[in-house]
Amino acid sequence: EAYGIPTPAGEVVDDPQEAQAVASDIGGDVVLKIVSPDILHKSDIGGVEVGVKPADVRDTFEDLIVRARSYQSDATVLGVQVQEMLDLDAATETIIGINRDPQFGPLVLFGLGGIFVEVLEDTTLRVAPVSEPEVREMVDEVESAPLLHGARGRDPVDVDAVVEVIQRLSQLATDFPAILELDVNPLLATPDGATAVDLRLTLDQEEL
Ligand code: ADP
Ligand code: MG
Repeated sequence: EAYGIPTPAGEVVDDPQEAQAVASDIGGDVVLKIVSPDILHKSDIGGVEVGVKPADVRDTFEDLIVRARSYQSDATVLGVQVQEMLDLDAATETIIGINRDPQFGPLVLFGLGGIFVEVLEDTTLRVAPVSEPEVREMVDEVESAPLLHGARGRDPVDVDAVVEVIQRLSQLATDFPAILELDVNPLLATPDGATAVDLRLTLDQEEL
């Protein structure tokens, strides 16, 4: 948020009442996620619940804590994130990754989410910090780029917003050498913007 990257409304809370209060401020159905440095892939352990109705927020809070504890009894649990639910049907999932190479420094990766990255390995890389023309090139050179530009009857996504988020993240990683790795997965791209829905960071304790 400090780097001007749009994120869904929400907060990390540590009790069910607070979770309920944040959910009612957001309004409608919400998403609840476990927040723990010991759980890097939250959905793998049932740590993400989407479409939680206001009346189910407290129980879901408790369920997530129980699942975290049964996955690893001594896991550090920082709380539960209550998040605004975004419309995935109207969005294209993209990912941005940053990895620090010992010789080149931070490398920035971009791709479309899901099978495009996992199965087809359709990604592109540059050395950070990246200029705007370089980022435009990245976004256009992945094989799945036509999906961003409105293939198959979809509305084109706001490519300018995606480009801006990539640049802002690349600047963030350049400014903080302690960031060894950073993943935004997914960055949801829609016709009117791009929102970072999930973030994972690995920090170098010696640089802090
Ligand atoms: P993880 O990658 O650790 O499993 P995520 O936060 O990425 O956790 O959530 C898993 C998936 O749940 C996302 O890839 C997305 O499809 C969906 N999701 C997460 N947050 C939201 C949200 N706020 N609105 C809609 N869908 C979401
Ligand atoms: Mg994720």
